[in-house]
Amino acid sequence: MGLNDIQSRIATAATAAGRKPEDVTLIAVSKVQPPERVEAVLMAGQRIFGENRVQEAAGRWPDFQARFDGIKLHLIGPLQTNKARQAVEMFDVIHTLDRPKLAETFARLADERGSCPELFVQVNTGAEPQKAGVLPEDADAFIAQARALGLPLLGVMCIPPVEEAPSLHFTLLAEIAARNGLTGLSMGMSADFESAIALGATHIRVGSAIFGERAYD
Ligand SMILES: *Cc1c(COP(=O)(O)O)cnc(C)c1O
Repeated sequence: MGLNDIQSRIATAATAAGRKPEDVTLIAVSKVQPPERVEAVLMAGQRIFGENRVQEAAGRWPDFQARFDGIKLHLIGPLQTNKARQAVEMFDVIHTLDRPKLAETFARLADERGSCPELFVQVNTGAEPQKAGVLPEDADAFIAQARALGLPLLGVMCIPPVEEAPSLHFTLLAEIAARNGLTGLSMGMSADFESAIALGATHIRVGSAIFGERAYD
């Protein structure tokens, strides 16, 4: 189980960048992992987890939440508008706000419930057609729109194209955050979280390096 190893690598990367390790939040991405692996990581003390799908999270987290205190769930996969209600009820943070319709739905649900998960705007930094997220050139306007709706924005999130150097995308994301006065940067996964920390990541999303390879995805 790689949790301790990842924690010490986070500390090393943060220190090397002149940052405090506690300023980097580790999200253990448990999507698709068998429950016994998730339980082992809970037993080791981890409490912040990321899931890709509302349905999968709804199927297993209520049980864990009944047995372990202080669990925080982050949604890191695309969200259909018709699952928004279930998502805001279950997740503490949602990293995939990417379109006006979803922003309006979150605002309506926030009014109704009196609370809203903290949000990251997903930016499609590589402008990949198959990938979710607002285009970099549309990010400022969309962030302003989400703010005008009163949504609690933490920052911006990206998933770099697999075939490109992630650091270019991390740098672009950091620039978008800075010019919009946002402090949260959700970037970095198993293969590149150290580079993300060097470039300012506040939230890293690490799956296979903690849990082992996923059987399917
Ligand atoms: C699966 C996933 C991760 C974790 O990926 P690993 O390479 O297993 O660390 C991080 N972010 C998102 C959005 C994911 O879908």
